[in-house]
Amino acid sequence: MSIREDALQGTITPLFQECAAREGVSVESLIAGIADGTICLPKNAHHDFDRVMAIGKGLSTKVNANIGASRDLPEIGQELQKLCVCLKAGADAVMDLSMGGNLNEIRREILKSCPIPLGTVPIYQSIAEIVEQQGKKIGEVTVDHIFRTIEEQAKDGVDFMTIHCGITRNTLERIRNHQRLMGVVSRGGSFTIEWMSYNNKENPMYERFDDLLAILKEHEVTLSLGDGIRPGCLADATDRGQVQELIHLGELTQRAWEAGVQVMIEGPGHMPMDQIAANILLQKRLCHGAPFYVLGPLVTDIAPGYDHITGAIGGAIAAAAGADFLCYVTPAEHLKLPSPEDVHEGVIASRIAAHAADIVKGVPGAFDQDIAMAKCRNNLDWKGQIDLSVDPQKARRYRDEGGSYKGDACSMCGSYCAIKVYKQAMSPKRQDQTGK
Ligand code: SF4
Repeated sequence: MSIREDALQGTITPLFQECAAREGVSVESLIAGIADGTICLPKNAHHDFDRVMAIGKGLSTKVNANIGASRDLPEIGQELQKLCVCLKAGADAVMDLSMGGNLNEIRREILKSCPIPLGTVPIYQSIAEIVEQQGKKIGEVTVDHIFRTIEEQAKDGVDFMTIHCGITRNTLERIRNHQRLMGVVSRGGSFTIEWMSYNNKENPMYERFDDLLAILKEHEVTLSLGDGIRPGCLADATDRGQVQELIHLGELTQRAWEAGVQVMIEGPGHMPMDQIAANILLQKRLCHGAPFYVLGPLVTDIAPGYDHITGAIGGAIAAAAGADFLCYVTPAEHLKLPSPEDVHEGVIASRIAAHAADIVKGVPGAFDQDIAMAKCRNNLDWKGQIDLSVDPQKARRYRDEGGSYKGDACSMCGSYCAIKVYKQAMSPKRQDQTGK
C-alpha cells in the first residue's frame, strides 16, 4: 500500500502521525490533503530519516537546496560539507544534482547522512554515464538506460525525483513557432529535447509514463513533474511553450494520482513580479491543486552574484500567492558551482522568503516568531534577538563587531537609540513631571 493509497483509505499510519506532529497539524487534515493531492509527503520506502515533512496546502512553506558534484569539481567531500551546511541553515529537503565523480557513491553517501528528504534528477546520471564514461552523444542514451537509472535510484532510497514528462513534440512545435529569446535553460529539459531531436521520437518519459509510475509506486518515490520549458529570462515568461507543458503536467498529475503516486509540480524560473501570482493560479487550476515547487522565481535578470536576493523576492511573492516549496537560489547562480558559503546564503535567503509568506498564509506560529523578536528588540534583549534570528551566527558576529554599545543599544544610533529615547519620553516619571 502506498502513502497515497493509505491516505485514500483514511488509514492513520505511524508515518502520518509523526509527520502531522512535526507539521503542527491534525493527522486527519494531513491525510485529507494527501488523499486529495494538495499535499505530498516525500518519503521513499527504503530511506529512513528523522525530519519527515510534507509539502502543500495549509502547511509551512518548505525550502529545498540543490547540491551535487560537477565534472570540473567531482569531490564528494565538498558535497557532504554542503549537505551539513544545508542542514545547519535549516533546509527542509536537498537535491543531489551531481553530474561528475562517482555518481552512485556520491548519492549513497549523501543518503546515508541525510535526515531530510532527498531528491534527484535521474536523467543527469544517465547522460553523464554515457557521455563521460562511454564517450557517446546525449541522444545515444537508451530508454532502457534511463529507466534503469530511475529504478536504481529508487531502490537506493531517493524520496522525490524530477522527471521531465511534460515535454512532447507538440510542446516543441509551440516553441519553434514562438521564437523564445533564451530557448530552454532547464538542464533536464534540454537533454530531453536533444534526445527527441536526435532520435526523431516522442519523449519516452511521456510515452512510457505508466511504466515510470509503476517504478515510483513500488519504491514510494514522489514524482516532481519537471518544468523543462521554464522561462530562462523575463522576456520568455508565461509563453506558449511554458503553458503547453503545464497543461500536460496537469493531465499527468491525474494519471499519477490514479496510479497511487504522489505528485508535485515544478514551476518557473525567471518571471516579472506582476506575473507570479497569475502563474500560481494557473498551476493550481491546471494541476488540480497539486503542490507547487518553484525555482526562484527570479524577478530580474540583471543581478548575477545576487540571485539569492532576486530568487527570494520572487519566492516570497510566489509562496504568498500559494506556492508550497521553494527551491533555493545561491549567489553563484549563472556563474559557477556554489561553494558551501554560497549554499548557506541561498538557504537563508529562501527561508526568509518562506517565512515572510507563511506570515500572510496564516501558518500557525509564523507571526508569533515576529512578535517574539519585536519584544526582544523593544527590551534591547540582544541574546533573545540573536536566538530568534534566522541566522544566529551572523547576527552574533555583527553584534560583536558593533563596537562600544554592546551592553545596551547598538552602534547604529548609539546614545541616540530611538527605543531608549522614546521610553524615556514616555516614562511614568516624565509623565508625572509634565503633569500629563
Ligand atoms: S541604537 Fe538604533 S538601531 Fe540600535 S537598537 Fe537602538 S534604535 Fe535600534
